[in-house]
Amino acid sequence: MSKFVVKHVAVLGAGVMGAQIAAHLANAGVPVTLFDLAAAEGDRNGIVKKALAGLKKLEPAPLAGAARIALITPANYDDHLDALRGCDLVIEAIAERMDWKTALYERIAPHVSPNAIIASNTSGLSIDALANALPASLRDRFCGIHFFNPPRYMRLVEIIATSHTQASVLDQLETWLTSTLGKGVVRALDTPNFVANRIGVFSILAAMHHTARLGLGFDEVDALTGPKIGRPKSATYRTADVVGLDTLAHVVGTMEKNLPDDPWHRYFQLPQWLSALIQKGALGQKTGAGVYRKQ
Ligand code: NAD
Repeated sequence: MSKFVVKHVAVLGAGVMGAQIAAHLANAGVPVTLFDLAAAEGDRNGIVKKALAGLKKLEPAPLAGAARIALITPANYDDHLDALRGCDLVIEAIAERMDWKTALYERIAPHVSPNAIIASNTSGLSIDALANALPASLRDRFCGIHFFNPPRYMRLVEIIATSHTQASVLDQLETWLTSTLGKGVVRALDTPNFVANRIGVFSILAAMHHTARLGLGFDEVDALTGPKIGRPKSATYRTADVVGLDTLAHVVGTMEKNLPDDPWHRYFQLPQWLSALIQKGALGQKTGAGVYRKQ
């Protein structure tokens, strides 16, 4: 197997995951170009600046804050697509919508190096369907790369091949993730929500279902599903706020749409009150309001 040398990574999307993945890479000394949509009007790099401001709050090990920030270059899709040409790895981490992701792939494809690996951080959309938005020449270098939140601390990364992915691409990616980022890699099949989210999201839904059935409060459920059972960062409703309620809704929607014969199918939906929060724009930690802090 030829060695996969990653000199520069492009991360597409500076949201909850993209910004943290960029910070994590910079922590490991890997230069990153962090793309995001230009602000609709006014300050074109507003979103990217916000993401970078958030990065400064992360723990600085092993690189100090300023050195890490210097490794991250903000970019937008209008003026900086040429920067993709110099990237060996492109990690897409935009919102969990098939239509938005495929539209972006069509836009970036002419600018990506033919030797780059392109990978999606989707939580569970079909990697095969995403691959189809790429030209045939890039399709065999595309796969899923599913980091968990927060990527700096969560060791697991699922990698997912399509029917087109060259075997060497997964081998190279696994070696790089293990040696450069210290990750524990699991190869998952291209099934809805892969492995960890298929189980994890179901456990969140089960806890939400029983919250209403047993008349419990959020804090009571979190006390029962969090630190006291050895899951300091995984209490149900805190996790929902950290993930983002809209992202959680998309991930649940993937199971609802694509697993019609699952015996638990009728539980694949969020409670009404949580959908109402999303409607109001209270999406969890990223908007400053969610299950815990109401608008
Ligand atoms: P987010 O909502 O925090 O950020 C989404 C980003 O996508 C934003 O920066 C936004 O500007 C960008 N975006 C939105 N529409 C776009 C478009 N049409 N074209 C280009 N960019 C667009 O989302 P997130 O939580 O960072 O999730 C990103 C991806 O990572 C999703 O696929 C999600 O399923 C996956 N993921 C999320 C988590 C989590 O805990 N939040 C964990 C693992 C994987």
